Amino acid sequence: MMTSTLFSEDSLLSSSPAMLIGGQWTRTEAARPVTNPSTGKQIATVPEGTAAHLEETLSVARHAQKNWARKTYAERGAVLESVVRIVSEHHEELAQIVVAEQGKTITEARGEIGGVKAFFDFAISQKYRNVGELVAPSAHGRQLIVREEPIGIVAAIIPWNFPAAIFARKVAPALMAGNAIVLKPSEETPLSAIAMARVCQLAGVPDGLISVITGPGRVIGDAIVRHPSVGMVTVTGSTRAGRQILAATAEKVIPVSLELGGKAPVIVFDDADLELAVQQAFEARFWNCGQVCTCNERTYVQRGVYDEFVRRFVAKVRDLKVGDPLDDTSQMGPKVSQAEWDKVKSFVDGAVSAGAHLEIGGGKPEGMEDSDGFWFAPTVLTNVTNDMDIVQQEVFGPVLPIIPFDDYDQVIEWANSTEYGLTAYVYTESMRTALAATDDLEFGEVYLNQTGPEQVQGFHTGWKLSGLGGDDGAHGFERYLRRKTVYLDYAKPSH
Ligand code: NAD
Repeated sequence: MMTSTLFSEDSLLSSSPAMLIGGQWTRTEAARPVTNPSTGKQIATVPEGTAAHLEETLSVARHAQKNWARKTYAERGAVLESVVRIVSEHHEELAQIVVAEQGKTITEARGEIGGVKAFFDFAISQKYRNVGELVAPSAHGRQLIVREEPIGIVAAIIPWNFPAAIFARKVAPALMAGNAIVLKPSEETPLSAIAMARVCQLAGVPDGLISVITGPGRVIGDAIVRHPSVGMVTVTGSTRAGRQILAATAEKVIPVSLELGGKAPVIVFDDADLELAVQQAFEARFWNCGQVCTCNERTYVQRGVYDEFVRRFVAKVRDLKVGDPLDDTSQMGPKVSQAEWDKVKSFVDGAVSAGAHLEIGGGKPEGMEDSDGFWFAPTVLTNVTNDMDIVQQEVFGPVLPIIPFDDYDQVIEWANSTEYGLTAYVYTESMRTALAATDDLEFGEVYLNQTGPEQVQGFHTGWKLSGLGGDDGAHGFERYLRRKTVYLDYAKPSH
């Protein structure tokens, strides 16, 4: 089905691509379908990884990791530089794979592949890092060194919303820090991870250092995170999955980093630059069809500018072009799956039956009613109260409730009222309000008069049920390392 120059010699990324087990491309008899969200049609099947595949790949990974850990940062960085080069050579092809299985627009997918390179670039920059500390010793002639070492084998469990970028977000730091990595992509979007594994192989990443095992989270994902050889787990996904993985790994007492769900508020004060706030609230809602953990999930607008904000926002939504994600002019593609479509629809219907007013949207876009693709019209709800499910639960779709507020204290209380704490956005021209809100918001990331995406040198970290630990930047990188304290006595013996 899908032709690819990355796999031109053996057509691995065809209608039945293989997974990468111990450096070998491996297929299974059992096969899981992959669907194009814009047509609803099957485009490929991928293998169902088993416990035997896991054993096989880990036995190669253990050996490969020992050799890799002996390499210098500069040597590892040189391999990762080749990864960046090959990603650049196949930028468009990788973007098209993302579109085919995930449904975001080609413009967004090209941006996602740019993000892949940025994650590798940041990891490469770590070749100049301080790899330890010399601490004041207790006596002359002694040294006390706290040094960094790789963990060994890292497991990465990733979602479907950024199937290429989140691969890079995990693989780049894990490898640069001297680890091997076993990655399980989402059941919905395994092709980008398979393609990226191929990129790494072509770049000279040694066999076994990266494995991609496809299959269901609760079966093979669970087996990976529980395996005794896995020394650290990094997860991006729902809070439900994060909790299950945290429980599954508790027996082993290993580090776990969780990047989970979000329910980002956008807060627009009376004195905000309204044009900027409307534009960025719009972008932060409909980006990737609303399927980003940092998406604008609820917008609070101060009463003095509420009506004008809603009027301008709805006008923009009316002009939003939903359509073929491969068309350069499309601004929004479909939802990723029928199950996700149904979930979003039930949130909207639930809000309307609880009294919300549908300003625009609410189901399939006009003219697309007969499509088998998972299209959802951009939707705006007003007359919403803060206690409704649509304001409290993560919707992860192109649906925005816009809620008026009276004063600072009320909006901060509402913003902090959900179980999530990943991202918050504040629009105000007042430095006092912006900085007070930064103090008072219980979120790991606050954007002031600015929208995302987050940057690779920052620290992407969720508070409350949004996560534990975090990715990116120096703080994200050090999660792939552990420390060893060395006590050294070099004083001349007195005897
Ligand atoms: P999901 O939790 O359904 O699946 C994520 C991954 O976890 C998949 O690979 C799945 O197979 C696996 N999985 C599920 N249960 C598992 C288990 N018990 N053991 C091992 N693996 C298991 O999430 P999704 O629907 O793919 O992604 C959407 C979610 O991801 C949203 O909640 C979104 O907010 C979140 N997300 C968070 C971030 C962040 O950085 N905080 C970024 C992107 C997406």
